[in-house]
Amino acid sequence: MTDLLECRDCGHRTYYEKHRCLECGGAEFDAVPAGNGELLSVTTVHVTPEGVREPNALGLAAFPGGANVVAQLDEELSIGDEVRLVGDRELRVTEDGPLWGVRIAAAE
Ligand SMILES: [Zn+2]
Repeated sequence: MTDLLECRDCGHRTYYEKHRCLECGGAEFDAVPAGNGELLSVTTVHVTPEGVREPNALGLAAFPGGANVVAQLDEELSIGDEVRLVGDRELRVTEDGPLWGVRIAAAE
């Protein structure tokens, strides 16, 4: 999912599904496009679990509305870069096949 969840009561956004809004306690959310965010931090993991790419570049990005997302980087990026979420990326290969998900990529 490349959308964020926006609280109907206060507009705070989150990427990770929650039962309650962390800002106001609201319980209803709408899916909204994430838009572009800013890459706040990057790191590279050199020893990864089986099936995960190695090295594995990860980033923390902040998106409008207060949503922070940690995800694999889709390309080489630097702190401060304008970024977006891209879906349908192979994150890990398991015995049952690939696991697909979201990565952080450069904004278009
Ligand atoms: Zn709220």
